[in-house]
Amino acid sequence: MNLILLGPPGAGKGTQAARIARKFGLAHLSSGDILRAEVRQNSDLGRQAQSYMNAGTLVPDGLILDMMARHMEKPDAARGFLLDGFPRTVAQAEGLDHKVEALGRRIDTAIHMMVADAELEARLTGRRSCPNCNAIFHVASRPPKKEGVCDQCGAALVQRPDDRAEVVRTRLQTYHAQTGPLVAYYRGRGVLADVNGSAAPDQVTAAIEALCGSPA
Ligand code: AMP
Repeated sequence: MNLILLGPPGAGKGTQAARIARKFGLAHLSSGDILRAEVRQNSDLGRQAQSYMNAGTLVPDGLILDMMARHMEKPDAARGFLLDGFPRTVAQAEGLDHKVEALGRRIDTAIHMMVADAELEARLTGRRSCPNCNAIFHVASRPPKKEGVCDQCGAALVQRPDDRAEVVRTRLQTYHAQTGPLVAYYRGRGVLADVNGSAAPDQVTAAIEALCGSPA
């Protein structure tokens, strides 16, 4: 099974993707996580991507397509993959179609997580993450036991540079302008499924699992 998780920044894609990938034995391919790892390693790709990421704009399609194609070819994606944060433009979706065809596969479902902008802004600007173990917290809805400290590993929590309020607004505008058209793209292909991303996380997981059927 090959899935796409489509939705605005802050919709909960990362949380849901990790759960669904585990349940169905899929490789979780998060373009944002892969890019942040490239930035940490100070690779060529990381250096090229960083300024776009910090500004909340999109990394050029060609770089992203090559990067994701490399990950889709890895052995751990052989049973299927769950794409999280990719594709983000119609050009990326078209490039993905070619890649999927070349691999002799198909996209089974594009899950569209819907959340209103005001809620997304509150979720993103309050988000704090652990740079060491990637655990995610929220200053209001999921505070750590000790302020600013990761419950899991004790590292100091940080705010992602792109979770600052002014960058969040740019990211949401970018989403509506560039990624919004993908909803119609996948609806036209008959693979789009809408999910209410404002529901409690366990309810969202249950809704996605129901769409995907039983694990193989
Ligand atoms: P995310 O963690 O998915 O919100 O991604 C963080 C940042 O990485 C985005 O604001 C973009 O700058 C970049 N990025 C992630 N995925 C993509 C993509 N599919 N296309 C272009 N840029 C991306």
